[in-house]
Amino acid sequence: MDAEAELRSAIADFGRSLFERGYSAGSSGNISARVDGGLLITPTNSCLGRLDPGRISRVDASGAHLAGDLPSKELPLHLALYNTRPQAGAVVHLHAPHATALSCLATTDPADAIPALTPYVVMRVGRVPLLPYVRPGSSALGEMIRALGGRHAAVLLANHGPVVSAAGLAAAVYAAEELEETARLAILLHGREVNLLNAQQIAELAETFGSP
Ligand code: ZN
Repeated sequence: MDAEAELRSAIADFGRSLFERGYSAGSSGNISARVDGGLLITPTNSCLGRLDPGRISRVDASGAHLAGDLPSKELPLHLALYNTRPQAGAVVHLHAPHATALSCLATTDPADAIPALTPYVVMRVGRVPLLPYVRPGSSALGEMIRALGGRHAAVLLANHGPVVSAAGLAAAVYAAEELEETARLAILLHGREVNLLNAQQIAELAETFGSP
């Protein structure tokens, strides 16, 4: 198998795993990965649990459709992350229930939506801004991500769900899982007095392990 065929297969395998664990119901969620000259991205209205590797869309660096089924309508937000983060090699967008629940809570901090409850979320995901609600597929989503200037590996879309990038496909999936697990802890702990990692502890992680 060549490198692109392996990547297509890996997108389908990770998609099935995320779907089976309830991270992306129905035809929600999309996954993309950088390839030479553009991206692979899951097709519009496809179910992550039943992806056909050969039909995953290929688009060029500007998002023009080249091969496979038509790309996800959330392509603009994937492109915005790749354009502003040269280090991003893959992007995972999910409607995972706990992260989406946090994205609906009026008490969620727009500057820091996923609390620093464990070192793992700090190392894999970092600080996550909450972006205001706009309709799915709106070009405003891409513009809001571009306005962040690539400072964040992940964002949470209000009343919608998380978008997570990382250097490679597996790392982006694991970071998306870590974000969802932390959102689940935040919901479990909601309304209680919680010890978050402090600024010094967060800085120590960045010095030791680098930033996501
Ligand atoms: Zn979505």
